[in-house]
Amino acid sequence: MVIVCVDPRLNHELIRIQVRQRLQRDRIRAERVYILNEVGGNVGANFRQTAQLLKRMGEPIVFCAALHHDDCLAVREGERAELSHAAQGLASELARLELQCPVATGEIRTEHNHVRWSDERAPVYVPFSFGAGS
Ligand SMILES: [Zn+2]
Repeated sequence: MVIVCVDPRLNHELIRIQVRQRLQRDRIRAERVYILNEVGGNVGANFRQTAQLLKRMGEPIVFCAALHHDDCLAVREGERAELSHAAQGLASELARLELQCPVATGEIRTEHNHVRWSDERAPVYVPFSFGAGS
């Protein structure tokens, strides 16, 4: 389950693909990726209710994240909590439901919908060369 802001420029499909890639890197198997909208990407009612629903259905929750984006209207209105606060919010909601899973945070470049995870280094360009042995 991944929380993103309500901003209409955020493209759920592009974000979903990058979440799937992240899950693959972490070797986490997930049948479905839920992208949830909350103002500013804060933890709110949408996350809470969806997590409760999944728990009732017996669907395991294997990964949660809160993603903030740049040029966010909620920030200008002082409506966005810090990213670390969002992570804490996620962790305490999960604890309340007696669920346990990794919690990640990251930032989305609004212009390209590019996700940069807080705990992963920015991709480094590795030049290809012939005969670079072993
Ligand atoms: Zn926003």
